[in-house]
Amino acid sequence: MKNTDLNQVRRVLIVGGGTAGWMTAAMLARILGEQIDLQLVESDTIGTVGVGEATIPAIQHFNAALGINEAEFLRETKGSIKLGIQFENWGRQGDSYMHAFGPVGRQLGMASFHHFWLAAQAKGDNSSFWDYSLNYQAAKAGKFSPQSQLPNSPLPGLQYAYHFDAGLYAAFLRRYSEQRRVKRIEGLIAKVEQKPSGDIAAVVLTDGQVLSADLFIDCSGLRALLIEQTLAAGYDNWQHWLPCDSALAVPSEARYPIVPYTRAIAHGGGWQWRIPLQHRTGNGLVYSSRFLDDEQAKQTLLSNLDAPALAEPRKISFVTGRRKQQWRRNCVAIGLSSGFLEPLESTSIHLIQSAVVRLVQCFPATQDMTALSNEFNRQSQQEFEAIRDFIILHYHLNQRTDHPLWQYCREMALPDALAQRLELFRHSAQIFRQQDELFTEVAWQQVLLGQNLLPASYHPLADSLTKAQLTGFFADLKQVISKTVAALPSLQSFLQSQS
Ligand code: FAD
Repeated sequence: MKNTDLNQVRRVLIVGGGTAGWMTAAMLARILGEQIDLQLVESDTIGTVGVGEATIPAIQHFNAALGINEAEFLRETKGSIKLGIQFENWGRQGDSYMHAFGPVGRQLGMASFHHFWLAAQAKGDNSSFWDYSLNYQAAKAGKFSPQSQLPNSPLPGLQYAYHFDAGLYAAFLRRYSEQRRVKRIEGLIAKVEQKPSGDIAAVVLTDGQVLSADLFIDCSGLRALLIEQTLAAGYDNWQHWLPCDSALAVPSEARYPIVPYTRAIAHGGGWQWRIPLQHRTGNGLVYSSRFLDDEQAKQTLLSNLDAPALAEPRKISFVTGRRKQQWRRNCVAIGLSSGFLEPLESTSIHLIQSAVVRLVQCFPATQDMTALSNEFNRQSQQEFEAIRDFIILHYHLNQRTDHPLWQYCREMALPDALAQRLELFRHSAQIFRQQDELFTEVAWQQVLLGQNLLPASYHPLADSLTKAQLTGFFADLKQVISKTVAALPSLQSFLQSQS
C-alpha cells in the first residue's frame, strides 16, 4: 500500500496567527516539519482577540513537546505560576473556595479521600476540605517550587500551570516556528475559492496573492472564515446553559507580591477574572447582555480593580457553543473558530492544544479525509461536552438571591449527563471521571463541595475508621502539608531566579 504522490497531503495553510495559529504552526513544524510545507497567513489590520492569559497544567506537556525551556518561556511571556482558581461569591455571596490543581488528601483505601472527610465532618470535625490540599495551602502562602518531588517531604510536588501574556506567547511561538521553516505571509484574505467538490482550493488576499493548499487549518478566531463562512459546518449554540455572551477586558497595574492563582469573582450579573502577570494584571468581566448592559458591566469591572487601569475596557462578544463539525472537508478548525465555552476554567488554550495533538495523530496521508475527520469530530465533541458540563456546574450550583442571572442558572434544565452526575453525588457523594475527560474527580469534588452541595451519605468504608483514627490521620496530614509549605520558597523568589 502506498500513498500516491498526486493524492498526498503536502501543503498545509494555517489561516490566522493568534494563539491558535502559532500553537498549531509550532507543533506541526516540530512533528511533521520534514513531511509538509507549512505556511501561515495573518492580518495585522485584523489583529488577534488579545485575551487568554490563564492555563491549566497540561500546557507544560505542550511546551515540553516543543522543547521549550521554562525559564525562557516565563521571561519571554512575562509569565507567572498558577496553582488553581479561587472562586469568590459563587455559592453564596461572601463564600470562597479554590479549584486547586493536584490531589486533596491522600488515598486511604478503595474509597476516595473525600468520603473520609465527609465521615469526619459527620462525627463533628470542622476542618476545611482544603486544609488537605498542598496546592491550596501553597497558593494562599504565596509559595512555589517546580520540583516534582519536594525535599524532606513525603508529598509529591505542586501541580501548576501558567499565567502569561497570550500576545507574547504567540510572538514567541512565531519565532520558534519561523526558525523551523514555517513561512509567514502578512495579508488580508478577501476571498476563499472552492473546488467543484466543495473542498477549499485557495484563499485570495486583497493584494491578489493566491495561497493554495491540500489542507487548511482555520485559526481565524471568532470569524470562522473557512469552517463556517465558507463550509457552513454549523454551530451547536449552548447559550441556554451558558448565557454569558460578552466580556470587557482591561489590564491594570501589577500588584506585588504576585499571587499564584487566578481569581474568578462572581458579581450581580456576571463574573470577573483577575490574572496576575509579572508586569501587569489582566482583568475582565464576563456577563450576559440579557441580564446586564454594557455600561453597568463597565462600572462593575472598573469599580472592582485592585490597581489603576492601564487602558479603556475593550468589549468582546461571543456565542457559547461548538462547531458541529470541527473538521469538514479539507479544513480543520482550531481555536475560537471551533467554538468557545467561556474562560471560567481556563480551558480554551487547552482545547487548542488537544486539537493540535489530535490533528497530529489523525494527520491525513491522502486527500481522502472522511474517516479521519469523523473520528476527529467524535473525539472533539466528547471533549467539549465534558468541559461544558463542568463549567455549567459552577453557574447552576449557586444559592445567590441578588440577581436574575443566578436565579436563571439555578433553575435552568441541565444536560442529562450533568443532571445524572449531580444526582449521584447528592445521593451518595460519588463522582466518577468519564473516559478521557479533562477534569478529574477531585476537580469536581472541589466545585461541588465549594458551592455547598453536601451529599446525603458517603461510602460506608469511611466508617471503618473510628473518630480517633480519623482525627489522628487528618491531624498528621495537616502537619505534613504545613511543614512542606513552610519550607517552600516564595513565588517571588522563584520568578526572580528565572529572570
Ligand atoms: P484570534 O486571536 O482572534 O486570532 C485570529 C487570527 O486570524 C488573527 O491572526 C487574525 O489576524 C486572523 N484573521 C482573521 N480573519 C482574517 C482574514 N480575513 N485575513 C487574514 N487573517 C485573518 N483562553 C484560555 O485558555 N484562558 C483564558 O484565560 C482565556 N480568557 C479568555 C477571555 C475571553 C473574554 C475570551 C473571548 C477568550 C478567552 N480565552 C481564554 C480564549 C483565548 O483567547 C483563545 O482561545 C485564544 O486566544 C485563541 O484565539 P484564536 O487564535 O483562535 O483567535
